[in-house]
Amino acid sequence: MERSTIVRVHEGLHARPATRFVRLAKGFESDVELVKDGKAVSAKSSVKLMLLAVKENQEVTVRANGADAIEAIEALIGYLENPKAGLDDEDSQPAGNTGQEAAAAPNSVPAVSGAITGLRGVAASEGVAIGPAFAHFPPDIAGQGRMLQAQEIAGEIDRFHAAVSAVQARMDRSLAQDTLSAGDRGIIAALRDIAADDSLTSEAEGLIRGGNDAVSAVITAASTIAADFSAVDDHYLNARADDVHAVGRQICLVLLGQDDVSLETIPEGAVLIADDIGAWDLARAPLKRFGGVVCGHGGATSHIAIIARSHGIPAVLGLGDQINALRTAREVALDGNSGRVIIDPDAATRAEFAGRVEAAAKERAGLTVFKTVTPKLANGKVIEVAANIGSLEEIEAAQEAGAMGVGLFRTELLFMRHMHLPSEDMQAETYAALAKAFAPYPVIVRTLDIGGDKPIAGIEFPDEENPFLGWRGIRMCLDRPDIFKRQLRALLRAAVHGNIKVMLPMVADIGEVRRTRVLVAECAAELKADGVPHAAFDLGVMIETPAAVLIAPALAKEVAFFSIGTNDLTQYIMAADRLNPTVAKLNDVTNPAVMSAIEMTAKAGVAAGIMVGMCGEAAGRPDLIATFVKMGLTEFSMSPASIQRAKKTIMAMAGEGAA
Ligand code: PEP
Ligand code: MG
Repeated sequence: MERSTIVRVHEGLHARPATRFVRLAKGFESDVELVKDGKAVSAKSSVKLMLLAVKENQEVTVRANGADAIEAIEALIGYLENPKAGLDDEDSQPAGNTGQEAAAAPNSVPAVSGAITGLRGVAASEGVAIGPAFAHFPPDIAGQGRMLQAQEIAGEIDRFHAAVSAVQARMDRSLAQDTLSAGDRGIIAALRDIAADDSLTSEAEGLIRGGNDAVSAVITAASTIAADFSAVDDHYLNARADDVHAVGRQICLVLLGQDDVSLETIPEGAVLIADDIGAWDLARAPLKRFGGVVCGHGGATSHIAIIARSHGIPAVLGLGDQINALRTAREVALDGNSGRVIIDPDAATRAEFAGRVEAAAKERAGLTVFKTVTPKLANGKVIEVAANIGSLEEIEAAQEAGAMGVGLFRTELLFMRHMHLPSEDMQAETYAALAKAFAPYPVIVRTLDIGGDKPIAGIEFPDEENPFLGWRGIRMCLDRPDIFKRQLRALLRAAVHGNIKVMLPMVADIGEVRRTRVLVAECAAELKADGVPHAAFDLGVMIETPAAVLIAPALAKEVAFFSIGTNDLTQYIMAADRLNPTVAKLNDVTNPAVMSAIEMTAKAGVAAGIMVGMCGEAAGRPDLIATFVKMGLTEFSMSPASIQRAKKTIMAMAGEGAA
């Protein structure tokens, strides 16, 4: 017996809705399956259901066989058509790693004195910290490396099931704590579901029956299921691969009789030193006690970096093997603005860092009142202070800071965190989620800005002598309309849900804007013909090449806004590689050459009556904002951590009578 329907569960059968559906299904004796595109899976396994990747508005069939088949179909179809609540809040944000390179935030506190040396990693979350080192290096887990005798197998299966039960019980105890935040509860509940799901257990049990010891079986089973999650075209589900590994590790630890190395005992203000930190550890970690984080793995946009930024924890990541030098450190000082880490600092360094930490805390406390402020000049003109983000996980931090929308959504990440190009549907969902989160404020989505320096799966980049001067950004997109049109169609679809604006990176020639407009019109016509809801969006350009500055008056007549990308503009005006420390002195936005390029851009935009904003790192610099406002800029987009300070700076200008 079967019945088909259209799924109305908000954002599809992701973790929590899948669990609810499974719970409902398990209440019936009948065998129940869910079928999508001809593929049937048991409706009693949340892992299998999640891997079916059922999306909102897709057609599925519920199939039941047994005494209560009619009731089962009735209940399950009822849930799919009318879930009482869609996703819980904690499930609506995808988890997982992110990818774009974020530059260090401007350094508003004095730099570390030249005498202090140390290790250098990726400046992943701004701020300074000093505190006792808390080393977190969980041991590697390995199986026995021998095949079981036939008579050992039944006992090993019992041992395995007992370990699974122990892990479930531990997770239940964690969930029972009422101190858990909604987000952490969501993560632990998702892990609990995986631990309770028979996909992992039956896979592992099959391997034990084949003669593998339980630990080896769990490691292999977790890798197999994690690989399935990694292969789905859905970044929420991709991130579940880490969860499966985390659950597998917990089961193995119980089997080996080993205690988990827990972060729960981290002392107040300590600096966490680790090679890497998994989702399970992070979800249970008492982040409020963290003074700072230093890791061997991770970049500016890894999961831990995003969490650190959201919680205002200074972090230096990506130290590689240098992390081993910190294993025995007693005290650590770190500078999340410069990426510097100092082991066992001397008295002078300690005093300097302690002073900077205190000053930063005082400043932060004084800035929170600016969260809800709408900064205006003396003449009443509103200056927009928006956030630069690169993933949905960063929405909360941006909103918490008081962002008036998003001035730069870097889409590279969506492309970099997959082993294939993201589909139009997946992109449309992501951009729509952003638009909804910030409406009525604008969300400026930058079209794919990628080149040979950051290769991604699905696009073959040529070997180039100078990737920064090569086939990147709008140049690559216009040569690959298959990729570009998919993104433009997704943006047109998302524009229905809020205030989406689109901007083009690396523009150097007016023809690039015109050719994009032709493609946008083509996409809109195709969507119309297919009956897909869509809406027009404002098209703007980043001003980040000297050519764009020089043709700014002509460009301004063809676009709705400018956003000045000072990171690239500085490197191209000064001919000084932004990643090369030997020319760092030249790579200075305050150089008169760069400032005059910014002024020329502003003049051209103001004369044409279009909005001129800035989304490079200079946008968050309190020492420069007033100058830019006087040039005519009315929008500044920056890392969420800089937003309140920028609002304060603009309000101070108004106080001084600036119009
Ligand atoms: C810039 O170049 O200023 C900018 C904002 O873009 P990105 O740093 O991503 O190149
Ligand atoms: Mg740029």
